[in-house]
Amino acid sequence: MYEREAIFIKRVMVIMGTRPEAIKLCPVVRELQTRSKEFETLVCSTGQHRELLAGALRAFHVVPDLELDVMREGQSLSGLSADLLQAIDSVLQSTRPDAVLVQGDTATAHAAALAAFYRGIPVGHVEAGLRTYHARDPFPEDYHRRAIALLSSWHFAPTVTAKQNLIREGIHESTVCISGNTVVDALRYTLNECRPTIRFELPKNSRLIVFTAHRRENFGEPLCGMLRALRRTVEAYPDVFAVFPVHHNPEVRKSAAMILSGAERIRMIEPPEFISFHHLLSKAYLVMTDSGGIQEETVALGIPTVVMRYTSERTEGMRAGVLRLAGSGEESVFSLAHRLLRLGSEEYLSMRRPSAVYGNGHAAERIVDRLCKIL
Ligand code: UDP
Repeated sequence: MYEREAIFIKRVMVIMGTRPEAIKLCPVVRELQTRSKEFETLVCSTGQHRELLAGALRAFHVVPDLELDVMREGQSLSGLSADLLQAIDSVLQSTRPDAVLVQGDTATAHAAALAAFYRGIPVGHVEAGLRTYHARDPFPEDYHRRAIALLSSWHFAPTVTAKQNLIREGIHESTVCISGNTVVDALRYTLNECRPTIRFELPKNSRLIVFTAHRRENFGEPLCGMLRALRRTVEAYPDVFAVFPVHHNPEVRKSAAMILSGAERIRMIEPPEFISFHHLLSKAYLVMTDSGGIQEETVALGIPTVVMRYTSERTEGMRAGVLRLAGSGEESVFSLAHRLLRLGSEEYLSMRRPSAVYGNGHAAERIVDRLCKIL
């Protein structure tokens, strides 16, 4: 049993399992830690993506108080969810927090919210209200987001659109706080206060594409099509270089090796820790991605982005003009990227505008201010 320091100090447990959760929750953890007269902060890492998570935590100097070990080789989503639920429940039983914070849409966030709900512990959901309303795109994230909304007492919506989604679903307005997205807090920290550990030297006057792809619904032919589109795009422009941090998933690695081996001016690298990744992103001329979080980062940085998906819950970034949906077919991805890379492309220039639709870097402060009022 964890002893309490004082009865008037509220114990908040922040639970995370993957790299994007760490990137978006560490600003909140750091903010909670600066208010130690009001909060005792416990960080629980579930180890869903052990190595990637550990790297992100280290970059923020956040040390987990509790480390679970739930990941097994070849585990199904159901197996993972069951293990997470049981492991998190034991931790909640022994630590008895006053509140639990989860972020986003992962299996960890879903299981943590459910375990806390079953124990009657209020849940705060950071990055609440994102929706595509397609249960299988992204899968299983769109389902997780909706389920977490039902289990949460407080909803920290990054934008007005996210808040409207929640209210349409019957969530009471008084429980929703528009905070901005904590990824912008993280981006400000990495670009202003941290040095990258990996540097990428590019030939002078070249243009950089940063390419990432990892969504499970794209595995197989859609992913192969996206990779062929990258190869054709780079071949079409001799001044273009691409850097592709290859996700650890074996499906991604197999397809990347098959389609991109030997391709000139495409560098496949191990996924860099996020400080180096943010610095790399900030130098990009164009980004091609199926990631969620990277869309928010490129919008904040104003880097034109080809979104290799049919739907996106980042509608604000599309309205701001920085994101364009291309679907995940080879021809549509290639033709959009090719068009934007034409020198003097007006379409490209109109997209190259930083936007504050995801906040101004003070989301964590707003979240913790609200927690101070409600706890
Ligand atoms: N990221 C990173 N290194 C990489 C690729 C991505 O640090 O090689 C960071 C990126 O800056 C963003 C987050 O990881 O903040 C996005 O993670 P991912 O694309 O895996 O997940 P999603 O946001 O789609 O859930």
